[in-house]
Amino acid sequence: MAFPVVHLAGPVSERLRRGHLWLFSNELAQGFQDVAPGTMVEVHDAGDGFFGVGTCNPHSLIAVRLFARERAEIDAAFFHRKLTTALKLREAVYSNETAYRLIFSEGDGLPGLIVDRYNDFFVLLPLTAGTELLLPQAQDALRDIFPDAKLLIRRDSSARVLEGLAVEELPSSSEGPVEIEQDGMRFLCDLWQGQKTGFFYDQRTNRQTLAEFHPQGDVLDLFCYTGGFGFYALNAGASRVVAVDSSEAALSLASEGARRNGFSARWRGVKADVFEWLKTCREKFDWVILDPPSLIQKRSKIPKGERGYRDLNARAMQRVRHGGFFATSSCSGLLPRPRWMELLADAARKAKRQAVVIREGTQAPDHPILPAMPETNYLKFAILRMD
Ligand code: SAH
Repeated sequence: MAFPVVHLAGPVSERLRRGHLWLFSNELAQGFQDVAPGTMVEVHDAGDGFFGVGTCNPHSLIAVRLFARERAEIDAAFFHRKLTTALKLREAVYSNETAYRLIFSEGDGLPGLIVDRYNDFFVLLPLTAGTELLLPQAQDALRDIFPDAKLLIRRDSSARVLEGLAVEELPSSSEGPVEIEQDGMRFLCDLWQGQKTGFFYDQRTNRQTLAEFHPQGDVLDLFCYTGGFGFYALNAGASRVVAVDSSEAALSLASEGARRNGFSARWRGVKADVFEWLKTCREKFDWVILDPPSLIQKRSKIPKGERGYRDLNARAMQRVRHGGFFATSSCSGLLPRPRWMELLADAARKAKRQAVVIREGTQAPDHPILPAMPETNYLKFAILRMD
């Protein structure tokens, strides 16, 4: 099938040559504005030579997302190939498991699409106009590879606004939460009403890292969601976990999850706004875990978000006993790791504490990073010893 053609305005940049998959609107020659949002286009260079194929959305700052650098049909067979490659990676790193992120957008060669697997359930997030139109191909390929698959599409991500797409209400369901297993623990996931797709698979390696340090004594799990880090701490021998989150629904799944893992006697959920709760908490802990939602959602929020990270980390550090440990993260793609480290240093100074980093981490291998695209490397994690 012939795709409409759009042209690069100037020479191919080093960034694109290296393998970056986004063409910004100011990199394209006039004409792309007439393309209907989501259309698959052929990109030509300024000399009219073939450059690649991708989905185009003239309303988005990211005007084209490349799917291939060679001439290719983007059909069910193409999705089948990408899904198979993605599945092979998951089978290599998580053999015989059935709960993981199967497709991480650009990282798996399908820009704008997220697919999280929860046993037989597959939650699809079409985040762009392009992937909205490609859903039938994605669904056909998924059903072909997983004949028992139950597919669920969620359109409640605020990222859709940037593409001019409607942000829909959460889907309702008569089904209860889905139980998954990770590293010998059970987690309850609400795929319909839960946050994102129901579970944060990206922190798995960092939860494992926490367990490797065998947290002992009292642990504070801030922004605990459905149990995540706290369960790993308990499994590794912690005496007790105080877990704070503002979501009643998340805490109720966490509490039932704690029961199913035999943790109930050592796990206590607290429903509170972490920012407020930290202002009045006087107790100290041997380990404090801090995993806030992104505090920097867009470029214009960078200064405010940076102050937010610094102050939140400072308050959390003050809750760590002398000689204790602090496990902290940031999922803001707009906050580069070196800058985040500066904020941690500022936080320690503000908290009047000495801190040394003893381990750093990033996202789990089911969130593969494209070396040419720093945007695909968003999760930062560090363990600090606090004196
Ligand atoms: N640590 C979790 C994931 C955290 S996701 C894990 O390992 O799975 C971020 C969490 O922050 C969500 O559960 C959300 O309900 C919670 N949250 C967002 N704003 C909050 C606030 N102001 N106070 C407390 N919790 C908040």
